[in-house]
Amino acid sequence: MPDWIDEEITPQSRFTDLQGIEPEFWKKKKLSEMSKREWELLCDGCGKCCLNKLDIRGKIKFTRTYCRFLDPQTCLCKIYEHRFEKVNDCRDIDLCAVREKPRWLPKTCAYWLLDNGYDLPNWHPLVSGRAASVHEAGMSVQNRQIVSESGVSDFENYIIDWKDL
Ligand code: SF4
Ligand code: SF4
Repeated sequence: MPDWIDEEITPQSRFTDLQGIEPEFWKKKKLSEMSKREWELLCDGCGKCCLNKLDIRGKIKFTRTYCRFLDPQTCLCKIYEHRFEKVNDCRDIDLCAVREKPRWLPKTCAYWLLDNGYDLPNWHPLVSGRAASVHEAGMSVQNRQIVSESGVSDFENYIIDWKDL
């Protein structure tokens, strides 16, 4: 296995050590005021931003094909620290990306929700304290009919219309 594959990160390990993190910081700060650590914690681990998308006449359509580096079970990137070196079109989730139009992040994305005046949902791991809650609520790509992008060329035949996109 290449040494740039991350093996240590587990979904729950992202939320186990919250020492030094202000409780409910997302209610007290704007996205632009958050530290890098706070920003990273906001990601709910749904994996939906790692589905391939098509721009069809100015509208973003999600497909049920996923980046080959997404782990469809944990819904985490397998090469997180090296993703921009390895995948040309992997996007950094920054404020510009969150505000980009047409919207290409799912409407359940924590960054998009907060930036649009919504609170985090109960199933968000920061609220529940459990990384698995995003999956149990059916809001991630886990246990859905998704396929790796490897070998797929006809992406238009994989377009999906999930309610949580
Ligand atoms: S869609 Fe948003 S919350 Fe979900 S994995 Fe991507 S960045 Fe994180
Ligand atoms: S490389 Fe980028 S698009 Fe691919 S799984 Fe990792 S974060 Fe998602």
